Amino acid sequence: MKVLVLGGAGYIGSHTVYYLIDKGCDVVIVDNLQTGHEWAVHKDAKFYKGDIRDRAFMDFVFEKETDIDVVIHFAACSLVGESMVDPLKYYDNNLCGTKVLLESMVAHNVKKIVFSSTAATYGEPENIPILESDRTLPTNTYGETKLSMEKMFKWVDVAHGVKYVSLRYFNACGAHETEDIGEAHNPETHLIPIILQVANGTREKIMMFGNDYDTKDGTCVRDYIHVTDLAQAHMLAAKYLMDGNDSNIFNLGNGVGFTVKEVVECARKVTGKEIPAEVAERRAGDPAVLVASSEKARSILGWEPKYASLEKIISTAWRWHEAHKTFEK
Ligand code: UDP
Repeated sequence: MKVLVLGGAGYIGSHTVYYLIDKGCDVVIVDNLQTGHEWAVHKDAKFYKGDIRDRAFMDFVFEKETDIDVVIHFAACSLVGESMVDPLKYYDNNLCGTKVLLESMVAHNVKKIVFSSTAATYGEPENIPILESDRTLPTNTYGETKLSMEKMFKWVDVAHGVKYVSLRYFNACGAHETEDIGEAHNPETHLIPIILQVANGTREKIMMFGNDYDTKDGTCVRDYIHVTDLAQAHMLAAKYLMDGNDSNIFNLGNGVGFTVKEVVECARKVTGKEIPAEVAERRAGDPAVLVASSEKARSILGWEPKYASLEKIISTAWRWHEAHKTFEK
């Protein structure tokens, strides 16, 4: 299978590329390296540096790589906080980028795409665990643009027969077992890497955003899922499309929720470090609880997450942060 991975130098993208290559796929990467890293580009993948909003560039890639079976699309902005202060950046990169990509795909007769969506499409959930059929009412711009991208895929499927799988991730975390790649955003905004930066001495303390939510200890509850388990789901989704199946949407999470305080406590246990924590104001756009039902992905895609415990997930991330603290300074 030949796969074009857009955003393959980013966090989830690079882990998916490693997984695909490990399973024998032929991989082509497109990344503008705005948030991705050159060091995260797998040496056995073909790499094109460029932006998916650039139609001429995308046409060039599809003309050079004529036999792409499936596109996997990670090339988007993904920070809830940033999306609330700079919404138009999200509309431009996420929606305009996907529009140009789809135009180029249709023009080059590429008819299969796996797409990274998010739990943020649901907003404040009506039910826990969340099912794919539940109401979608995003509480932040990031989730809104991802939901609009899903709808764009739906109508492009109707008109042009481009089949898609949308994977709604809950909280991606952890690092590759080889320690070659891991989570390295700059600036970092995600909970687990920030906690581990405190543990490795590159950050002073962790601020916990809000302790007055309606949860067991007042802090937000999230469903943390290992990045290699997400990578596995992308490969399965690509195969699902290759088998001629119809477009579909799947949640990807562990089905277990942890509060921010519990995550801090677990990291203290894994690292043996004190990890000073303070309560701060709520962060705009944060729902109180997000926990997935991933039964659909398990039964239809045959997805089997391998990293079930939070401790195991944090251990892989901790090894990465210990090994790479120099570039976090
Ligand atoms: N969070 C926090 N302090 C931080 C970063 C995040 O308390 O420095 C909280 C955040 O409010 C949310 C949870 O940790 O409830 C997970 O946030 P993250 O940004 O990692 O992922 P998101 O849920 O936004 O995708």
